[in-house]
Amino acid sequence: MTETWAEPAPTATALLLLGRGSDADSEKGVDCPGELPPASDPDLVARAKAAKEKLGSSVFILGHHYQRDEVIQFADVTGDSFKLAQQAAARPDAEHIVFCGVHFMAESADILTKEHQKVVLPDLAAGCSMADMAALTQVEKAWEQFTDLGIAGDVVPVTYMNSTADIKGFVGRHGGVVCTSSNAKRALEWAYARGEKVFFLPDQHLGRNTVVREMGFSLDDCVLYNPHKPNGGLSEQELRDAKIILWRGHCSVHGRFTLDCVNEVRERVPGVNVLVHPECKHEVVEAADYVGSTEYIIKVLDEAPAGSSWAVGTELNLVRRVAAAHPDKNITFLDRTVCYCSTMNRIDLPHLVWALEELVAGRVPNQITVDGDTAHYARVALDQMLALP
Ligand code: SF4
Repeated sequence: MTETWAEPAPTATALLLLGRGSDADSEKGVDCPGELPPASDPDLVARAKAAKEKLGSSVFILGHHYQRDEVIQFADVTGDSFKLAQQAAARPDAEHIVFCGVHFMAESADILTKEHQKVVLPDLAAGCSMADMAALTQVEKAWEQFTDLGIAGDVVPVTYMNSTADIKGFVGRHGGVVCTSSNAKRALEWAYARGEKVFFLPDQHLGRNTVVREMGFSLDDCVLYNPHKPNGGLSEQELRDAKIILWRGHCSVHGRFTLDCVNEVRERVPGVNVLVHPECKHEVVEAADYVGSTEYIIKVLDEAPAGSSWAVGTELNLVRRVAAAHPDKNITFLDRTVCYCSTMNRIDLPHLVWALEELVAGRVPNQITVDGDTAHYARVALDQMLALP
């Protein structure tokens, strides 16, 4: 018998994100000039509709898969970060791109769109903890170390799309490439055709999972570069012997799934298929039945036979939406507690209404811009990704 969707147990953070609680500190640093409508305003949906209508084709709203339903209902297109940036670039008539996602995604959209297009992030506090784990100064310091060791010439940098424009620019400057969770293997093959080693930023798990699961490397071929330790916490010999130098970054959402979650769901749900994102830890990915990007996860669940059972290890907003779209399938969340991306959830309906109404008033709120030099080299690394065989 098919079970109905069971909401995971709420955590304190999740309650805050759902608006049931308050934490003044959590809002520090949020820059929202002007008047943010209260979340209790019953006219929010009507206000968003009216503002969107007034703006017409001059605005294009992008919604990442991990966004809340209240926001996603106004998106002109939904997708993962790269698909959304491409969609923005394909709409040069839209003067304003409102990006319902996180900061690095809005930066990529700014890099890929035309000069006259302005990219707006409704809440500047919507960052990404993974992207923030690799600062340009830290990465440049690591590269100096490789240069001093005489290995920099053998190293090709590869960065995940989930990185700041600064890091993409660094990678472009040093002959590397950007990758997504869908094309990481192809990007790494391209890199190994050009150098003996790869410097993989900023997600250690995507790098490790790709080379070990899909390219026949062993765990011993990988070393972890910790920017908070002298020399990355690695000896000269370890750096010389490594085939891949993984930056010590991770996604705080996917990092929550554990081997215990997998074992527990297998006991609880007979015949369950475990489907996870490659940002999960290596042992979780090894124990799963299916592994792939957000778009892959959606496709697998869309195509799964009625009555089949799935435990999904990715962001909760996405899992809930796919479960609601397929009531004939038993789709459950891999963790028993709520697991939203806290920064993605910063973009709520009040912020979207505020951003749209500002645009109607002729003001451009929270514009995200990338400086010309960084944008140029980041584009080089992005174009290299698009040219991958
Ligand atoms: S889900 Fe993870 S990688 Fe994606 S925006 Fe949130 S913290 Fe960053």
